[in-house]
Amino acid sequence: MKALVLEEYNRLVYKDMPTPQPGTGEVLIRVKACGICGSDVHGMDGSTGRRHTPLIMGHEASGEIAAVGADVTRWKVGDRVTFDSTVYPLDDWFTLKGRYNLSEGREVVGVSPVEYKRHGAFAEFLVVPQHILYLLPDNVSFAQAAMVEPAAVAAHAVRLSGIRAGNSAVVFGSGMIGTFIVSMLKAAGATPIIAVDIDEEKLKMAAKYGATTTINSARQPVTELVRSLTKGRGADFGFEAIGISATVNALLDTLRKGATATLVGNVTPTIEFPLQKVVTSEIRIQGSCAINGEYEMALDLIASGALNVDDMISAVAPLSDGAEWFRKLYAREGNLNKVILTPPNAV
Ligand SMILES: [Zn+2]
Repeated sequence: MKALVLEEYNRLVYKDMPTPQPGTGEVLIRVKACGICGSDVHGMDGSTGRRHTPLIMGHEASGEIAAVGADVTRWKVGDRVTFDSTVYPLDDWFTLKGRYNLSEGREVVGVSPVEYKRHGAFAEFLVVPQHILYLLPDNVSFAQAAMVEPAAVAAHAVRLSGIRAGNSAVVFGSGMIGTFIVSMLKAAGATPIIAVDIDEEKLKMAAKYGATTTINSARQPVTELVRSLTKGRGADFGFEAIGISATVNALLDTLRKGATATLVGNVTPTIEFPLQKVVTSEIRIQGSCAINGEYEMALDLIASGALNVDDMISAVAPLSDGAEWFRKLYAREGNLNKVILTPPNAV
């Protein structure tokens, strides 16, 4: 099969690789679309330590089942599917408690830290266990399905926060995840929904996806504006989709006493933390990691039209051109959102 292989850091090569074979409880997927994730772009230079070479990256994918292994009963050849980016053990304590995203021994598709290597979906085929599959609604395209993973990350954060209809929310960061959080907040009935970023283009996208107010924190007083929109108290719920000291602290400044701050971004391992503010204001800090089953919800929202993913897709390009698209994303050329790669058999 053809695959886009990270042969060494910063060197992607489109080449022949052996086609994997499904074992017991596994299926072989003929990949139709796979999105380039920011973690792939940042990971390919070796800086994150999670893309040891050689590796086929890619975990935001969709395709058709091409073959099934032994003991696969619920799935058949030809089924249109997407799959969880996390392969998790079924017999783990956290999995059994309904929190598989926290399970011990979980592996991310298309990732290779020191402990494991699992090839991903920038290839014509990949093998995944049957228990991480989701059937695509008929009216959801393969490209749209490749957007489900980031949408589900946002859905998980919104669900974990505990927000209800009528609550106010402020979202720091209007990248892909932040904007999907805005969209999920709209679906959850939050109001107002305030998006904060320093990039006007991203703020425009956040407005399109449901932000009732956008604030450019580079030139507008965020705390004052949020207070003026929330009866002088501050927002009920906050979401942070960047992961640095400045924005986590700015977010906490916009919240009312007793609010919940859900932290999703984590580009830096540690931050400065305003202990006294959080303690004396009884702010609840909620971390949010990956996805815990929100694929189905995200797929249903796309199928119903409640979640628009199309506007977030900047390009759908052949897998053979993948190295060039990675280069553009790495160099931040041309304001790209999601780029989706399609293997040669996909069209
Ligand atoms: Zn991703």
